[in-house]
Amino acid sequence: MENTNFRIWLDKMELNHPLVIAGPCSAESEKQVLEVAHELKNTDTTIFRAGVWKPRTRPGTFEGNGAKALPWLLKVKEETGMLTAVEIANAQHAKLALEFDVDVLWIGARTSVNPFAVQEIADAIQGTDKIVLVKNPINPDPALWIGAIERFYKMGVTNLGAIHRGFSSFRKSKYRNIPSWQIPIDLKTQYPLLPIINDPSHICGNREGIFEVSQTALNLKFDGLMIETHCHPDDAWSDASQQIKPVRLVEIMEELKVRKPRFEREESVSKLNAFRKEINEKDDQLLEILAERMQIVANIGKAKKESNVAVLQNTRWNEILQKVVEKGEEQGLTQGFIEKIFKAIHQESIAHQEKIING
Ligand code: PEP
Ligand code: MN
Repeated sequence: MENTNFRIWLDKMELNHPLVIAGPCSAESEKQVLEVAHELKNTDTTIFRAGVWKPRTRPGTFEGNGAKALPWLLKVKEETGMLTAVEIANAQHAKLALEFDVDVLWIGARTSVNPFAVQEIADAIQGTDKIVLVKNPINPDPALWIGAIERFYKMGVTNLGAIHRGFSSFRKSKYRNIPSWQIPIDLKTQYPLLPIINDPSHICGNREGIFEVSQTALNLKFDGLMIETHCHPDDAWSDASQQIKPVRLVEIMEELKVRKPRFEREESVSKLNAFRKEINEKDDQLLEILAERMQIVANIGKAKKESNVAVLQNTRWNEILQKVVEKGEEQGLTQGFIEKIFKAIHQESIAHQEKIING
């Protein structure tokens, strides 16, 4: 799967800007759907999204109009020429979406967590040439995300892509779903030919953060954005606080800077190469120092073994941590970064001494 070119559907669109998927969280009525669609018609939007079946955390909230809304999307396609996208969560949804010629099927975050549900859908759409976009599962589990994508690939679906919508966290944060950018970056590294689209709406949970998250995504070479758009966001039946008006979407698309994939001018390239050489040297030095430090750790381990002393020495560890955080901050390194690095070093050192003491 690593070398499969999943980008064919995207390349065929021949866009000179990032792919834009926009439209309301939910298809509320025919009038609402067509109103949004017509306002998006002459924007960068290529794919019109609208949730027809809505997975809601609590029952009793609006759970979507269901199949009744599918003819509205057909109308969107006829009247605006945009492609259409809906979320499908089971085989029945899949069957109906195909029947109504929906172009893009996306798997929601509450479905991609469940291999049974994903397999059921993959079986139902086996061999389809429709575009299938898999949102990351709610929890930050890269293997679960890749597994869901693989299930479609194995059933002969190759017009594939991933949507990064952030991850649920019990920690308090300014995000509704924390982005944990390293996870989509890892996915991109493993599958460089898999289009990856950012969903700033579900990451932010508000309107204010959408520009910034979108810009970060473009800085990281994401292929596109999925942004929830509604003509009267405050009155939306779901996700009211994060939807933006089509005019705001146009503004955002104008303000966003698309980064070039690489340096182009000769002198910039040679400057970059010189910096990279310096970085490589620093990395070598870092590794040497870490190895030397580990050697000293081993000597301490031997001493602890001889005197039958515990591996963990809390006071000493607290002393080290406090000192490095202070020194790091003096040098412009954040506390969080220093703590992460030194906790990793400490953990590795303990593992090293454990081996010595037990061995
Ligand atoms: C949605 O796109 O409206 C949606 C429900 O998203 P997610 O599956 O990311 O929560
Ligand atoms: Mn939504």
